[in-house]
Amino acid sequence: MKLLAIRTLVLIALALLFLAGFTVFVGRYLHSAAVWAQHPSNRHLYQSGRLKETGTIYDRRGEILLETKDGVLTFHSEQSVRTAVMHVTGDRGGNVATGMLKVMWERLTGWNLLNGAYRYRDKLSAANDLTLTLDARLSALAYKELKGRKGAVGVYNYKTGEIICMTSSPSFDPQNPPDIEADPERYEGVYLNRLLSAAYTPGSIFKVVTAAAALETIPDIEERHYQCSGKIQIGADTVTCLVPHGDVTLRDALAHSCNVAFAQIAGEVGADALQHYAELAGFNNRLTFDGIKTAAGKVDVKHAAPVELAWAGIGQHTNTANPLAYMVFMGAIANGGLSVAPEIIARENMLPAMTKAEKRILPTETAEKLKEMLRNNTLAVYGESRFSGLELCAKSGTAEVGKGKEPHAWFAGFLDREDFPYAFVVIIENGGTGSRTAAAVAAGVLHAAVAR
Ligand SMILES: [Zn+2]
Repeated sequence: MKLLAIRTLVLIALALLFLAGFTVFVGRYLHSAAVWAQHPSNRHLYQSGRLKETGTIYDRRGEILLETKDGVLTFHSEQSVRTAVMHVTGDRGGNVATGMLKVMWERLTGWNLLNGAYRYRDKLSAANDLTLTLDARLSALAYKELKGRKGAVGVYNYKTGEIICMTSSPSFDPQNPPDIEADPERYEGVYLNRLLSAAYTPGSIFKVVTAAAALETIPDIEERHYQCSGKIQIGADTVTCLVPHGDVTLRDALAHSCNVAFAQIAGEVGADALQHYAELAGFNNRLTFDGIKTAAGKVDVKHAAPVELAWAGIGQHTNTANPLAYMVFMGAIANGGLSVAPEIIARENMLPAMTKAEKRILPTETAEKLKEMLRNNTLAVYGESRFSGLELCAKSGTAEVGKGKEPHAWFAGFLDREDFPYAFVVIIENGGTGSRTAAAVAAGVLHAAVAR
């Protein structure tokens, strides 16, 4: 009897051990199977370390960005186009974390958790294809406008969320990849989609956030006047402007990007409110859409000293901005304070059909005031003739990034047009004056976007 009891216990223990092991395996399988299957040694999907075949990726105009031709992954037929959208498709080596070959890998290869690499009749079907919201040729034009400088350009429809232009530089031809390691300076961070995965000092584009906070928290802000003698002492630091701006209102201060006025305005808004409105504008938050997770911009002024708050209010201090998130913030201002989440995969591809993700970040009245101020920037400073017909509302930024280095050039905003509801962002690393260099890129891309 005793022997039987011992044997029973041993059997139960063995059964429990098996069950525990099985549970661990199933858990790990559910969690990591897709990662295991993506290993280049998986000969169902890879040959000599390269993906054997995938579905076809189309852009919004039906241009083929990626297809399997005679058993070989083949990118767009034109080198300039496939280079410009390399960060969107991804490369054969799977190096671009936000590329479609990575984030939509299961759909493109037909691999799934239940059946692994075995597909119905072992063939890819239309279900493995993907249509993007992107206009590949517009992206190619944007890449060309960057003229080899490092940076990114994005354009999206602020009513529907569709990203129509996305490019990041440097890039390379994914059809004939160069020896990246041979030229580390040229290819610095080449696998990074700078629109999605980078965050830069924003400089003066951040003044729009400070202005939003001021409109919301200072009742008579629009009647106030600030005196700019070209510099102001705050704590131990002096905040300066390139030229004295004299007597300015909030509206003038934004148009002429007056640091002296905005340093004072940031102080009046206060740390808590500036922090709050920065977070509403998308800072300290990663955007997630279509399997992509962006880098987060940063604003941290909760315990800032007055001088740090002043610098933060003009987009310096420790502030950083993610280009895509900033473009979405611009879109929300255009859209009456309603922020529409971006998307890169055409909606008809998605099952189940998803609803548009909207979030109110500012009251309509505040958004309208900001819109009018951003429109005034173009009319008063940037020059309507450069953007004729676009109804351009924008803010430039020239972000200081350290002594002896050219500043980062920014230009961000939107078109106030019902037929072309586009928000945009241009960032050029060490690109100099934003209203000159980044604005020139924006002008080229936006005129083309409207003409197409
Ligand atoms: Zn000034």
